[in-house]
Amino acid sequence: MNMIIEHNFSLKNYNTFGIEAKARQFIAVHSIDELKVVLQQNQHQKKFILGGGSNMLLTQDIDALVIHVDLKGKKIIKEEDGAVWVESMAGENWHEFVLWTIAQNFGGLENMSLIPGNVGTTPVQNIGAYGTEIKDTFVSCEALDIQTQELKTFTKEACRFGYRESIFKQEAKDQFIITSVVFKLTTTNHNINTSYGDILKELEKHHISTPTLRDVSNAVIAIRQSKLPDPKELGNSGSFFKNPIISKAAFEKIHALHPEMPFYVVSETEVKVPAGWLIERAGFKGKRFGDAGIHKNQALVLVNYGNATGQEILAVSKDIQATVLSEFGIAIEAEVNVI
Ligand SMILES: Cc1cc2nc3c(=O)[nH]c(=O)nc-3n(C[C@H](O)[C@H](O)[C@H](O)COP(=O)(O)OP(=O)(O)OC[C@H]3O[C@@H](n4cnc5c(N)ncnc54)[C@H](O)[C@@H]3O)c2cc1C
Repeated sequence: MNMIIEHNFSLKNYNTFGIEAKARQFIAVHSIDELKVVLQQNQHQKKFILGGGSNMLLTQDIDALVIHVDLKGKKIIKEEDGAVWVESMAGENWHEFVLWTIAQNFGGLENMSLIPGNVGTTPVQNIGAYGTEIKDTFVSCEALDIQTQELKTFTKEACRFGYRESIFKQEAKDQFIITSVVFKLTTTNHNINTSYGDILKELEKHHISTPTLRDVSNAVIAIRQSKLPDPKELGNSGSFFKNPIISKAAFEKIHALHPEMPFYVVSETEVKVPAGWLIERAGFKGKRFGDAGIHKNQALVLVNYGNATGQEILAVSKDIQATVLSEFGIAIEAEVNVI
């Protein structure tokens, strides 16, 4: 095993915000055996797990051993009438994995095309886009217990998925390293879902009335490219905030004052409100404070124009939260992991 621990290692190219922050120690691991050795040899060190760095805001140097999970490989583990079980190692790039499933004519992930990051991180916040979430196709994942170095299987129920939530952001946080994920995908009778956002409009533009998996994926890619900044060109971490879910009673009071506010009924007692709308109404869309700012087309996306520090972006996020709270009485919570 050729494993090198780097010291005082710059993470600028390892986070999509492009923030300059240093890891006290850094190692990339390429197999479960390597991972076990690293954990055994560094039992008493603080550890920090890094995937693609597309869902974190680094506000300080990381005083820990940063373990970059780079386990590669994917395989079909089971086939049945109309369905296939595919296992991917944690370090595979998510979008490349989605494109691979589409090339095999496996359905279920196409609406989540072009989400940055790695496969192993997808259960952490139950990623989702365009009417689909990972939990819809997720079967199980394997994760290494950081303390005991034992592999444990988490079923869908055990993951306790919610809206951008799972056990890995709650009780199991910092205790497990996800090493692989299994998805159950369709091989026939695909459940093509074009009802969300502008997918239908995008397909109509290309005169497509019976879309294939690839057509849906291409439509999602085109829409995302037109709306979201590419982190390679403008540092960002996607949606910075979650869409708040508030009680129906609270919603009715706010809605009476702002009847134009869009909303989505979650249950008999809860309503979801788009955080982007609240932020835009609070006057932040397109604003810039030094090198930190709010994207001109997407109020939900905070951006780094070049040399913003994590602290500067955090300060903007706090300003937004305080203003939205005082103007609408709604508390908005960060989706991005603030480190
Ligand atoms: C332009 C853009 C668009 C985005 N759009 C979406 C979207 O539509 N929907 C959506 O849900 N998300 C979206 N995101 C957020 C992000 O892409 C996802 O959350 C993604 O799953 C993060 O993966 P990552 O590997 O980059 O995670 P990282 O940022 O590396 O890590 C995120 C968290 O998970 C932990 N972690 C990382 N790897 C592991 C592991 N193997 N085991 C246990 N814990 C681990 C880290 O410690 C950290 O706390 C977007 C981001 C960007 C930049």
